[in-house]
Amino acid sequence: MAKISIQNLTKRFEGQTVLQALSLTIEEGSFFTLLGPSGCGKTTLLRCLAGFNAPDEGHIFFDQDDMTHVPAHLRNIGMVFQDYALFPDKTIFDNVAYGLRARKIDKDEVIQRSFQALDLVGLKHLDKRLPAQLSGGQRQRVALARALVIKPRVLLMDEPLSNLDAKLRLSMRDMILDLQKQFGITTVFVTHDQEEALAMSDQVALMQSGQVAQMGMPSYLYEEPQNAYVADFIGSANLVPVKVVHAGQVEVAGQQLSADTTMARSGVELRLVLRPETLKLSPSRQDVANAVAVEIKSRQYLGAKTSYRVALQDGTLLHVEQLGNAQFSIKDTVFLSIPSNSRVVML
Ligand code: ATP
Repeated sequence: MAKISIQNLTKRFEGQTVLQALSLTIEEGSFFTLLGPSGCGKTTLLRCLAGFNAPDEGHIFFDQDDMTHVPAHLRNIGMVFQDYALFPDKTIFDNVAYGLRARKIDKDEVIQRSFQALDLVGLKHLDKRLPAQLSGGQRQRVALARALVIKPRVLLMDEPLSNLDAKLRLSMRDMILDLQKQFGITTVFVTHDQEEALAMSDQVALMQSGQVAQMGMPSYLYEEPQNAYVADFIGSANLVPVKVVHAGQVEVAGQQLSADTTMARSGVELRLVLRPETLKLSPSRQDVANAVAVEIKSRQYLGAKTSYRVALQDGTLLHVEQLGNAQFSIKDTVFLSIPSNSRVVML
C-alpha cells in the first residue's frame, strides 16, 4: 500500500505533449480512476506510474520514495491489462506463480500463495489449464490473481473490463472492488466509461488533453461540474446556452429563471447544466416554480421512466426524464421546471 504523489508530470512523444505538468495525489488504499476520452493521456500516465514510460519532467512518489527513475521491475507494481497479457504457453498456475518465482520466493510458499490467489478469484480448480482454454472473464481473473499474488504496493489496471460482455463486466466490477477493499491496496484504474468510473471509484480524475479537468469523489464531479466539458462527460446533461441577467438570475430562450451563477464569468460563453432526471414537467404553470413553456417533441416509454425530448420557445431541444408512464403527448405545450440550484458553467 502506498500513497501516490504525481508532481508536474510532463510526457512528450515526438514533439506532442501528451501529459502537461500534471499533478495529483492518490490516497493510500483508495480506488482511484483516470477517466477520459480516447487520446487524453490516461494510459500514458498509468505507464509512467508502472515505469514503462519515462516522463520528460516531474516526479512520481510512492509515499516518500521518489520512483520517477526506478525501473519497472523494482517498483513492486501489480498490473492488469485490457487484453490480459497472460503467457500463452504457461499454465494458469505458472502464470500466477511467475512473479513469485522471479522474486526467488521459496518453492512451498510459491505453491501456497499461488493457490491462495487463484482461490480468491474462484479459479483454483483450473490451475492446470492454458490461457487459451479459459473464457475472457476467467483470463481476466487469472490476470488479477497474478497481479495480487506478489502483494504489490500499487495495483494498476488499464481498461480491464473493456473486452468483457456487459453482464460479466458487472460481476467483475464487484470482484475487483471486493478484493481491492479486502487487501486495502491503492489502485489506479483507467477507463473511458464514465458509468464504470462513478460506480467503482473513491476518487476520479477526469482528464482532458493531458491535464486534469476535475478531480474528486464521483458525486462531486456529477453534482458540481466545474465546466461544460465535465458536465457533458460525466452522466447525461443538457447544456443550454444562457445569459446571466444578474447574480442568481439567467435568461433562457427569452425567459428569466433562477440558477446558480457563482461559476459564471463575463465575456465567455456560458451553459446552464440541466440533468434530465432533475427536470419536472407539469401541465400548468401554477403547479411549478422556476418554469418555462416547452413543447413535447417526442417520448419514449422505458419501463421505470419515460424519456421526453422537449423544445424551448427558441427551438433548443432538451432531454427530460420522468418517473413512471408517459403523461404527456407529442405537441402538448407543458411547463418545464428547473431546480434553482442548476449550475451555470463556462463552455
Ligand atoms: P485510449 O483510451 O484510446 O487508450 P488514452 O487516454 O489512454 O487513450 P494514451 O494512450 O495515453 O491515451 O495516448 C495519448 C496520446 O499519446 C495519443 O495521441 C497517442 O497517440 C500518443 N502516444 C501514446 N503512446 C505513444 C508512443 N509510444 N509513441 C508516440 N505517441 C504515443
